[in-house]
Amino acid sequence: MKTDIVDRGEELDVAAPRCFCGKIARLQTSWTEANPLRRFHVCPNSSGLMQRRKKGCGFFVWVDVEFLPREKALVSWLLRRLKELEKDIGHRQARERKLMSWLILSWGIVMVLLF
Ligand SMILES: [Zn+2]
Repeated sequence: MKTDIVDRGEELDVAAPRCFCGKIARLQTSWTEANPLRRFHVCPNSSGLMQRRKKGCGFFVWVDVEFLPREKALVSWLLRRLKELEKDIGHRQARERKLMSWLILSWGIVMVLLF
C-alpha cells in the first residue's frame, strides 16, 4: 500500500483554515493504510505528513472523519483492485501494440509477394 501523500486539485471546495504562520492551509489527501482517502489541512510550508514536524509551523487538522475499520478495508481493497486493473490494462495495451506491429508486417509481406 502507498504511504505517500498527494494533493488532489478537485477537492478545493473545502474551506481552508489558516495555519499558525497565517497562511492558507494546504488541503491534502492521505493514502496511508491507516487513513486511506482521508483529507487533511496542513501548513503550506511543510512538505508532507512525515515532515510536518521538521518544516512549517506544525499545523495539521483532519477534514474528514476517520473511516470505520470495515470502510478502510473496503477502500484498501478497491485501491488494490484498481492497481491490478491498471496493470492489466498496461499489459493488454503492450500486447495490442505488438499484435498491430505483426499485422502491419504481415500485410507488408503479402504486398511484396503479390506485386
Ligand atoms: Zn504554517
